[in-house]
Amino acid sequence: MKILYGVAECFPFVKTGGLGDVAGAFTGTLSKRHKVYMVLPGYSRIDRKKFGFKKLKSPEFNIPIGNSEIKGYVEHTKINDNLEIYLISNSHYFDREHLFGNGTEPYPDNAERFLFFSRGILELASHLKGLDVIHLNDWHTAIGMFYLKEFYRKVGKIKPETKSVFTIHNLGYQGIFWHHDMYLLNVDWKYFNPEGLEFYNHINYMKSGILYSDIVTTVSPTYAKEIQTPEFGFGLDGVLRKRSKDLYGILNGVDYSIWHPWKDKFIPFKYNKKLFSRKVKNKLEIQKELGLNINPDKPLLVMISRLIDQKGIDIITPVFDMLVSLGTQIVILGTGDKKYIDFFNWKEHQFKGTVVGYMAFNEEMAHKLYAAGDIYLMPSKYEPCGLSQMYAMKYGTVPVVRNTGGLKDTVIDIEDGFDRATGFKFDYYSPYAFYEAVRKAVALYKTNRDEFNKLALNGMDTKFSWEKTVKKYLELYRK
Ligand code: ADP
Repeated sequence: MKILYGVAECFPFVKTGGLGDVAGAFTGTLSKRHKVYMVLPGYSRIDRKKFGFKKLKSPEFNIPIGNSEIKGYVEHTKINDNLEIYLISNSHYFDREHLFGNGTEPYPDNAERFLFFSRGILELASHLKGLDVIHLNDWHTAIGMFYLKEFYRKVGKIKPETKSVFTIHNLGYQGIFWHHDMYLLNVDWKYFNPEGLEFYNHINYMKSGILYSDIVTTVSPTYAKEIQTPEFGFGLDGVLRKRSKDLYGILNGVDYSIWHPWKDKFIPFKYNKKLFSRKVKNKLEIQKELGLNINPDKPLLVMISRLIDQKGIDIITPVFDMLVSLGTQIVILGTGDKKYIDFFNWKEHQFKGTVVGYMAFNEEMAHKLYAAGDIYLMPSKYEPCGLSQMYAMKYGTVPVVRNTGGLKDTVIDIEDGFDRATGFKFDYYSPYAFYEAVRKAVALYKTNRDEFNKLALNGMDTKFSWEKTVKKYLELYRK
């Protein structure tokens, strides 16, 4: 098959978070047997030299944006016969320090930037022969689904046989812009109604992706159900219910060539199930490195996360001191909201030798912490799929998670028996419910290490492979 995959970021070219990892690993696996054209915005921070990008003579195109015709061009490189990378380039839109905003605020012209990108993808698609599927991702590309169905197919620029798949990675970010931006789109106002692009008197790009694509997917089966309810739908639950027969939840995978304690190049002591007893050496190393009291028997709680409400930080802070009182050590690695950064810095100061607030983005430290921890904390308010809990399990670090989205689908609770269990789950989004789950985990660690280790070893057996994910996507593509 021939698949065009449009996305706003992709490892190793450019990455700010989970979406970049997922895009890189998914297309890497898919292209083992199928032809993949990956399309990214031509951000200036993508290293043209390192990856061998060359500017193409054609296609060059003009995208009508408001009253102007904006010139775009394409850069290209080939990873192998099955995987080609294209950049949709325009220096005004993409020659900036960041991808989406200046760190605190989104760029004010994001409606325009990602409209340009989305239509650029379709201009390129109309030059690629024999495409079977156009697969677009999240709000940054979503408006492309509208143009594909209402324009490119209708005027014959893209054949009706080329089908479309739209994936929601996180419904919390929708690309909502004020109604004046309708004029940028150059389309009739008839589309600005609740059955179309309008969303509470604004334009909503994500909504157009959901409404106008042939098939909609999201990144776990539970999240696919949850987003059809008002609690998780961010106002789009009605639209999603309307499309429920075309909506599928397919779990992401893990790249175990990078995330495996036996192969991990960052961790001081490699281990696997047989050599599980070596794991604790990683804890002793990190205690030394971070200035924690050195003690192999202190349960080490770790968390590696964006510090935002979605990740449940607001239910951690009220019980944080109680978690320390359980006789634990806690390391939080993260970046995000200032109020949380201040909080964890203060806790580090207050509980010197017991708590570390490592307030930075640090890939190496992340690897070391997955290896060093005993218990992994992930009390998310909502979690489309989540990678961290899957990494933690592979490293034998027992997750405590809220029973939602991808966490529900990937972690097996202790109540389901020691033969299968991989972690501890709680239901209610409250500090006390979270505290209770951690208390149970710490109690087991302290009173029955063999049983605790059984959970860790079960976790190390988990296999969330990309092969499985890709197989399911291929079934949908064929459909
Ligand atoms: P999301 O994509 O919502 O942020 P995921 O759990 O799917 O959450 O993926 C987060 C990824 O980012 C994980 O690989 C995690 O290890 C990594 N990560 C998050 N914060 C940091 C940080 N401060 N330093 C290093 N890695 C981080």
